[in-house]
Amino acid sequence: MSQSKVIGILGAIPEEVNGIIHSLTNVTEVVIGGRKYYKGLLYGVNVVVVYSRIGKVAASVTVSTLLLHFNVSNVVFVGVAGGIHADVRVGDVVVAKDLIQYDMDASPLRPKFEIPLLGQTYFHSEEALSRKLLASIESFLAIDCLTKHIEPVELRKFNIEAPRVHYGTIASGDQFFSTNKQKQALIDELPNVLCVEMEGAAVAQVCYEFGVPFIVIRTISDNANQEASFSFQSFVQIISLVYGREIVKEIVKSI
Ligand code: SAH
Repeated sequence: MSQSKVIGILGAIPEEVNGIIHSLTNVTEVVIGGRKYYKGLLYGVNVVVVYSRIGKVAASVTVSTLLLHFNVSNVVFVGVAGGIHADVRVGDVVVAKDLIQYDMDASPLRPKFEIPLLGQTYFHSEEALSRKLLASIESFLAIDCLTKHIEPVELRKFNIEAPRVHYGTIASGDQFFSTNKQKQALIDELPNVLCVEMEGAAVAQVCYEFGVPFIVIRTISDNANQEASFSFQSFVQIISLVYGREIVKEIVKSI
């Protein structure tokens, strides 16, 4: 890996990045705009790690700071999401092929979902790296490997038996999905969406506008329905720290 690379790694909540922060060496902490940025080395690679807080605005200002203040050359978002597509289950991982802001609607002036004055609807992540990660995430998810990191009893609590990795579209907006009605409305409008979350497409838009490559990786914490808030809370406390840490290890090796 080139020495000039600095990877900006962000999640939305502490549970998504704490495992990564604990793995850092040579750490310095910098506070900007109420957020704490951890600058250091991760397996010998220069990184800056931060949690943005929740939602598109929080994620946008955080990734802008990573780009403008810390001059990161690559951006990685790791976090959790609600499963939308029928094939996507709790404990699976979704690697973004592209991302869309499902709550952007300037129609009839512009087509629904298109970002006005930018003319862009889907933001494409760094394809070569994303595809390369599919195999290493699949190996991590193999049950023999996963149980080295997470107790089987914990996996059973979430019915995680044969978790899979998926590659496709992620939808982002400022809503926590906790009803079937919300979920069905999204499926009706955007049937290709694999999962829903609240930051990824905002990070993607900022990186697109700055011309910086990015990837977004989401572990499914809930099914974006009535049980979502219970599943989400316990999942982030027990599981997401491990997934985040191990997935980022693979990313840093691959970049
Ligand atoms: N419990 C938090 C709120 C979490 S919001 C609080 O107390 O404030 C959910 C976070 O996880 C967001 O960062 C979002 O990106 C992701 N997420 C997980 N499941 C989601 C769902 N069902 N709908 C939307 N976002 C979800």
